[in-house]
Amino acid sequence: MYRKIISLIEKLEARHSLTLEEYEALIGPMTEKSAPDRADEAALLAEKASSVRQQVYGRDVYVRGLIEISNICKNDCYYCGIRRSNRSCERYRLSEQEILECCAQGYELGFRTFVLQGGEDAHFSDEVVCRLVGQIKKNHPDCAVTLSLGERSRESYQRMFDAGADRYLLRHETADKAHYEKLHPPQMSFDNRMRCLRDLREIGYQVGCGFMVGSPYQTARTLAEDLKFIEEFRPDMCGIGPFVPHQATPFAKEPAGTVELTCYLLSIIRLIHPNVLLPSTTALGTIDPRGREKGILAGANVVMPNLSPMAVRKKYELYDNKICTGDESAQCRHCLEQRMESIGYHVVTDRGDVKGWKDS
Ligand code: SAH
Repeated sequence: MYRKIISLIEKLEARHSLTLEEYEALIGPMTEKSAPDRADEAALLAEKASSVRQQVYGRDVYVRGLIEISNICKNDCYYCGIRRSNRSCERYRLSEQEILECCAQGYELGFRTFVLQGGEDAHFSDEVVCRLVGQIKKNHPDCAVTLSLGERSRESYQRMFDAGADRYLLRHETADKAHYEKLHPPQMSFDNRMRCLRDLREIGYQVGCGFMVGSPYQTARTLAEDLKFIEEFRPDMCGIGPFVPHQATPFAKEPAGTVELTCYLLSIIRLIHPNVLLPSTTALGTIDPRGREKGILAGANVVMPNLSPMAVRKKYELYDNKICTGDESAQCRHCLEQRMESIGYHVVTDRGDVKGWKDS
């Protein structure tokens, strides 16, 4: 095995921190196409990450019911299938009633966290979102509500928090400003994305950041910056999944990220923050039939089955060939339960707060 990598893994395990250069050295050999096989190093890293995860969360896997509330978006991110410029995307928006029904159905299925995710759709004003969050909390007081609705003002985040929202997911996408600008049109700004994350944190949300693995122009250096950012920002959650090209975007011809690198990074993030909530994503399940199982075995502890109504699932197409668009919510949940059992893990009915979180 490559000694340098082994010593970095040991240092990370002991100190939960590396320098930017060390992160780059840890990742570099995994990103080089011509590099010798690094499966042994990856296995060692996964073993350590898995045992750390085991100490904090045992073999429990938390589930979040994902409700894709709208694919209407004012933004034009180059990688995303629901970007404004995609004329071939058939747009939809769920009604408040439909969203509440998804939650009720999810509750029956054992979900105790609902994630409302969508494009940046002006219909979902503060007033609409606050009413919705209030209703969900009233119907299901023992549940957590997570929002993933993109960039908004601090005041807006504050109002939604005051209305009862517990958590917010906003991937930073990349911690490198120049790289950010290659993934987004000039109307979007890295600084605003980071401002949003800081505001969310200060307001009191449990916050999730994250990035795509293998996005165009990503390098070992930009990934090292992502890891340093995650180390310092200390998110409660961290969503990472492979980039998967969408045929109707400027990145249609770009290669997808790999399962190997995604799992390697999941393991590193688990060693940086032993308590972090780490989803094994749908994108990972899309590029590999056992991708989500592999993610859990690399150190992840969360899965997010789809709770959206059947009729809209295919339309929330962030990337090509997204899985779970043909199954009902109950099927999605049971399928994931079986997948987790097949590797010796158990889906639990629990809000699944980050360990060490003090509810105020
Ligand atoms: N509008 C919300 C929700 C975005 S969709 C927001 O801005 O936060 C959730 C995540 O899907 C994005 O943050 C992005 O990282 C991921 N995503 C988008 N397009 C993707 C693609 N082609 N491949 C993989 N992941 C993608």
